[in-house]
Amino acid sequence: MSESVRIVDGQVVRPVTPDAPFLSIAFSAPELCTRCGSCAGVCPENAIQIGERHYPKLIAERCTACGLCGAVCPGKEVKYADLAEQVFGERFLDKGFDGHVEKTYVGFSTDDALRRGGAGGGMVTALLWHLLKSGKVDGCLVTRMSKKEPWKGEPFVATTYEELLESQGSRYSIIPINRLWADIRNRPGRYAASILPCQTHSFRKLQQADPELAEKIPYIIGLFCGGSLEPELTTEMLSMRGIRKDDIRNFEFRGGDWPGQMRAVFHDGSAKPLHYSNYKDGAYNYFTSLYMPERCQTCLDGSNEFADVSVSDAWTRDEKGEYKFKEHSRLLIRTPVGAALAADAIESGDIVLTDVSTDPSYSTHKMQTRRKGSLAPLRIDRWRRAGRRVPIVDRGLPDDVTCKERITEWLASSMLRAGKWRPFRMAVMGFLTSKYAIPLIKIRIWAKKQKYNRRYRAKRKVDVEKAAKDYPGQSE
Ligand SMILES: Cc1cc2nc3c(=O)[nH]c(=O)nc-3n(C[C@H](O)[C@H](O)[C@H](O)COP(=O)(O)OP(=O)(O)OC[C@H]3O[C@@H](n4cnc5c(N)ncnc54)[C@H](O)[C@@H]3O)c2cc1C
Ligand code: SF4
Ligand code: SF4
Ligand code: SF4
Repeated sequence: MSESVRIVDGQVVRPVTPDAPFLSIAFSAPELCTRCGSCAGVCPENAIQIGERHYPKLIAERCTACGLCGAVCPGKEVKYADLAEQVFGERFLDKGFDGHVEKTYVGFSTDDALRRGGAGGGMVTALLWHLLKSGKVDGCLVTRMSKKEPWKGEPFVATTYEELLESQGSRYSIIPINRLWADIRNRPGRYAASILPCQTHSFRKLQQADPELAEKIPYIIGLFCGGSLEPELTTEMLSMRGIRKDDIRNFEFRGGDWPGQMRAVFHDGSAKPLHYSNYKDGAYNYFTSLYMPERCQTCLDGSNEFADVSVSDAWTRDEKGEYKFKEHSRLLIRTPVGAALAADAIESGDIVLTDVSTDPSYSTHKMQTRRKGSLAPLRIDRWRRAGRRVPIVDRGLPDDVTCKERITEWLASSMLRAGKWRPFRMAVMGFLTSKYAIPLIKIRIWAKKQKYNRRYRAKRKVDVEKAAKDYPGQSE
């Protein structure tokens, strides 16, 4: 008998090959892997570990071919109608790109430190802290920048207020948070998770594949996601700005005043901005054009459709194009669990919410999700026809795809393809983070303001009617 063959429960177990159909997708088609970490988290044999650039690696000798990793993998396949039926008891594919929404709020944490430290209004952490201090959960699955290697994100289980403070803010980088399932499998108690849409898809699959483990996570607080960024963004940005990795103690994606800036924080506590604009107008939006991973380019879920609640930035602007809600978060209530959580947190005085469900000016997230929800299916369609491997999804192209959307998709894809070539992306980043980009960013900000100005003055009524037509059944 070969050395690597094992006997498990009286059965001969041979090492599997990476293309075994029951395995998660990373081993046969890594370009489809979202790097959510779920396969490593669910494997009862510890046969999957997280390796370079957060990709899973297989220790084939340990695998018993149980198929759990494949069953929870969101990289290969996402069936929206099945997930809708599972979570909302109703099969649907046609609720815009926001999925099922009971109520829409804007609000913030009443705890000053949580509000200041948050990406938006600190809503996510306020809800997590509410659950922790009221004893409804024993820990929270969250992220932070690694203490040893502060240019890398890492997931961890927060069990105290101080640890939650550490987790605050957005890290626009891949972090395989669902690998924490392996930790909580062996720990007592219940947990809340704050995760991205692909990680929620996987959690919903876990409820089917391993309900005992899933029951340990009764609360899913979902983040919106316009796309993540490859982990090398941080090191390349530091090197572009002439900063040594070892000189920093933290890399902030949104440090300083709202909406924040990418910053290097040094060991003496001082911080250096890595670009001249704020995060929203100059950094994230450009870097997604260069650093967005391949699987994110084919991801349809921008609003975390299957979470209990979804949280986004409240980017709504007024008639002058200025942000209306600085340091606010937007909260979409989806499930009864989510509704009860928000109600309890209000009653305890932990959050303040304003119901904006019927006000169309708050539905700017619909533009974000529409953008992602139309570009991704266009790309899937185009890539499939070109013979590339694409995820299996049951949601096709919207009926009303415009010519502009087709051109935008093609241009964005071309830019991302060019961005895979390091000299190109370094040159573009060098320009974008230099003072020469300031006029470009100013023009962009000016153009945006004009757009909002026009929209408010001339088209408000039309927008309201269009929103009602585009998203039937929703009150905005
Ligand atoms: C990759 C990414 C893309 C996003 N895209 C959009 C978008 O297009 N539009 C939009 O409106 N909002 C987007 N968001 C959400 C937004 O940036 C805020 O996270 C959200 O509004 C919550 O703010 P808050 O102040 O309530 O949260 P906070 O109280 O600051 O808590 C933030 C939570 O996010 C978690 N987190 C941070 N980074 C990650 C990560 N990489 N993976 C998993 N969890 C993480 C932290 O652990 C923490 O629990 C994105 C977030 C991420 C991480
Ligand atoms: S033991 Fe099961 S979960 Fe682990 S790698 Fe093998 S098939 Fe996947
Ligand atoms: S998508 Fe997630 S579950 Fe699938 S292979 Fe990648 S890390 Fe594993
Ligand atoms: S874009 Fe989709 S696949 Fe990429 S990190 Fe966000 S939710 Fe996951």
